[in-house]
Amino acid sequence: MENLLIGIDLGGTTVKLAFITQAGDIVTKWEIPTDKSGDKIIPDIAEAINAKITELKYTKEQFVGVGMGAPGPVNFEEGVVYKATNLGWREMYPLKADLESNIGLPAVVDNDANVAAIGEMWKGAGEGAKNLLCVTLGTGVGGGLIANGDVIRGANGAGGEIGHITSIPEGGALCGCGKTGCIETIASATGIARLAKEAIQGGNDSSILRTKFEKTNDITSKDVFEAAEKGDKLAQEVIDNVTYHLGLALSHVANGLNPEKIVIGGGVSKAGDQLLLPLRKQFERFAFPRVAEAAEIAIARLGNDAGVIGAAYLAKTKL
Ligand SMILES: [Zn+2]
Repeated sequence: MENLLIGIDLGGTTVKLAFITQAGDIVTKWEIPTDKSGDKIIPDIAEAINAKITELKYTKEQFVGVGMGAPGPVNFEEGVVYKATNLGWREMYPLKADLESNIGLPAVVDNDANVAAIGEMWKGAGEGAKNLLCVTLGTGVGGGLIANGDVIRGANGAGGEIGHITSIPEGGALCGCGKTGCIETIASATGIARLAKEAIQGGNDSSILRTKFEKTNDITSKDVFEAAEKGDKLAQEVIDNVTYHLGLALSHVANGLNPEKIVIGGGVSKAGDQLLLPLRKQFERFAFPRVAEAAEIAIARLGNDAGVIGAAYLAKTKL
């Protein structure tokens, strides 16, 4: 096989790696743990790639280059990560240069949420769309915006940070970014769980969630969707609140982008139609009618592979 691409998705706990064809098919994929001290991350990755090339009896000449998605804002042109404190990297870490010198292949790097959005555009739920809004509802809320087939990176690498749209202007919950009331504090798995706990503590109506909470002292977003499925009123109110704010936030972004597709990924998206149907309703209520008409809302298809596939696409198109 010739002209293979290497896709890397660097996360806080694991590094996902894959060899991918020019058509976007995964030849092989695997994971290694992320070295928390930061210094060994890139040497570890280089070693893992070299070992895999040997194992599969490839040669380095069969590879075009490496694409990588990394957490934190990235200067795309220079290949520098501004700040990724959870990886132990100093300010302005020269990620592209480090990858190239360690692996011996040309490299391109971008923000991880952008790379996941590119993956969904190439081979996932956004396939065929050139204007795409991707939102990942996980522990936090990540976002990627694609206009005319290319990611919007913005003036200093913070383009597409949909998670930090202010939804509660006054008195909202504190967000990891330092502001309060971000959509991340409402529509992330953590946010949904928090809203459910607040609803339980703020009332005394009977609910499956109340019984669960009194027994285990914990509620997850999955519990909320499961309870709503069984007709639980309190759980449904939490979902209605979440989809109201998310639909409103997405309508604002969509009015600026006019996307063909809005792709919802992350753990919370496993709720499927339970999330999509009320979200669609709220989105249509708030978006400019012509924008709502064009935008199909779909669940992400690539799951954990979105990052490596999007990273490989960057290597294919930008090197
Ligand atoms: Zn925030």
